[in-house]
Amino acid sequence: MAEITPIRIFDTTLRDGEQSPGATLNYKEKLEIAKNLVALGVDVIEAGFPITSEGDFQSVRAIAAETEGAVVAGLARCVRRDIDRVGEALRGTKGHRIHVFCATSKVHREKKLNKPIDEIIQISVESVQRAREYVDDVEFSPEDGSRTELSVLVDITAAVVEAGATTVNIPDTVGYAVPAQYGEIFRHVREVLPELDRCDIYLSAHCHNDLGLAVANSLAAVEQGCRQVECTINGIGERAGNAALEEVVLALRTRKDYFHRFATRISADRIYPLSRMVSNFTGLHVQRNKAIVGENAFAHEAGIHQDGVLKERSTYEIIDPTDVGVPSNKLVLGKHSGRHALRQRVTTLGYHVDESTLDHVYEAFKALSDKKKTVYDEDIEGLVEARIDSELSSNRWRLVSLQVTSGTNAIPTATVVLADATGTEAMDASTGDGPVDAIYSAVQRIAGVAVELLDYQLRAVTQGKDAQGEVSVEVRHKDVRVRGRGISTDVIEASAHAYVNAINRIRHVTRRETVARSGDEA
Ligand SMILES: [Zn+2]
Repeated sequence: MAEITPIRIFDTTLRDGEQSPGATLNYKEKLEIAKNLVALGVDVIEAGFPITSEGDFQSVRAIAAETEGAVVAGLARCVRRDIDRVGEALRGTKGHRIHVFCATSKVHREKKLNKPIDEIIQISVESVQRAREYVDDVEFSPEDGSRTELSVLVDITAAVVEAGATTVNIPDTVGYAVPAQYGEIFRHVREVLPELDRCDIYLSAHCHNDLGLAVANSLAAVEQGCRQVECTINGIGERAGNAALEEVVLALRTRKDYFHRFATRISADRIYPLSRMVSNFTGLHVQRNKAIVGENAFAHEAGIHQDGVLKERSTYEIIDPTDVGVPSNKLVLGKHSGRHALRQRVTTLGYHVDESTLDHVYEAFKALSDKKKTVYDEDIEGLVEARIDSELSSNRWRLVSLQVTSGTNAIPTATVVLADATGTEAMDASTGDGPVDAIYSAVQRIAGVAVELLDYQLRAVTQGKDAQGEVSVEVRHKDVRVRGRGISTDVIEASAHAYVNAINRIRHVTRRETVARSGDEA
C-alpha cells in the first residue's frame, strides 16, 4: 500500500469566513466555534486579523491561550505594525503561527501596490523574517497567486522559504482558477523548487468559490502535492465564499478509493453540529440543497429513490448522514425534562457552558416549555445563543416589554421599553408602516442609533403550530453591515429581539478599523 500523506486542514471560518458581509462574530462566539474546531480535529485555526480591530486581536489572543490541540494563526499584511500586532496577540503562547501576505499578480502590483516585483519580494522577505522573530511557524501567501506569473511565484516562494517561511499558500483569491490549471501551479512550483519537499515546506491551497470551483480546485492542488487546504465551515467567506471544509473532507473520505493516498484528522461526525452553530452565530443560513450539511442533503423525494434507499441505502446514498453527525432521530425535551437532561443536550450540541450560564438557560427552557409542548434541538440552540450573546458585553440594550396595536384600519403603533446595562429603563412609542416598522423606529429612538434595515427574514425554527419564529435582520449603520437574530413563540417579539440584537452588535463592529479592509485580502 502506498504511503498516506496527511492533509492539513486550515480552517479560516473565523477570519475569511467572518469577512462575509454582515457575518460579525463576537468574542464569545468565536471562542465557542474555536473549541469545536479543535474537537473537530482541524490542524490550524486562523482566528483573526489582529490589526483590524481590538476584537480580532482579543480573539486571536484568547483562542491561542485557551485552546489546545491546534495551531492558531493570526493574519498580517507585510507591514511591520501588522506583524507586531499578531506577535503581541501570540505572546506567551507556544507553537502558533503568523500568516503574512502580499499581493503578487501583475494587476495588483501595477494597479494596487504600484510597486515592481523586486520590491514586493524584498518586503515579503523582510516581513517573513520579522514574523520569525516572534514564532517558528510562518506562513506566506502571495495574494492573487493563481493569477500571478509562474516565474514570479517560483521566485517569491524560493525567497520567502529562504527567509524562514514554513508554509507557502498559493491562493486563488478571486476564484478565477480551474482545477487542472490550479493543480499545475503546484506541480510546477514543486518541480522547480525540489528543496520544498526536501525541507518539509508545506504548500497550501486557498480557494474562493466565485465560479463554484473552490472545492474542486483544492482537491486538484492536493493531487499535485499541496499538503494544506484552507477552508471554512459551510463555505462562508468573502463574496461567494471559500472552499467548504465539510465538502473537502467528505470528498477525500467518501472517495477513498480514488484519494487513497491522502487523509485528514477530521472527526466527520462533528461536522453537522458545528455547521449549525456557525450558521446560527453568523446568521448565514445554509442553503437547503447545500452538499453534506443542507437540509435536503439526505432527503429523498422521488418514490423510486425512497424505495431503493429502503431496500439498500447505498443505492442512492453515498454518505451515511449519521457519519457527519446528522441526528438519526430527533430527541426532544419537554416540561418534565430536568436540568441534567438539558445539560446533556447542550453539550451534545457542542456548547461549552458553565453552571451559571446553564442556570439561566434552564430558566429560559422552563419558560419556553410552558409555552410549547416539545422543545427541539433548534429551540435549545436559540436559548443558549441568546444567553451567550447577553453575557457578552456590559453596555447593551435589552428588550423589557413591548406593546403593539395594528389591524386593518388602524395605524400601526408600538410602545417599547428597553433597559440599558445599568438596568435603567427607557420607553418610547412610534407609528410605522406596519407593526415591525413601528417597533423598529421606537427602538432606534431609544437607542439613539440610526440604522437602515437591509434585510428581514422570518422562518419557523421547528415544525408545528407552536413552533418558535426566528427573525434575522441585517442593518447598516454608517458603512458597517450587521446581522441580528431573535427567537420567540411570538414573531413580533422575535422581530424586536432581532433588531435590538443587531443594534447591540454595531458597537462591536464600529471599532473595527478600516485600515486592513482597504482591499487587501489573502
Ligand atoms: Zn480568502
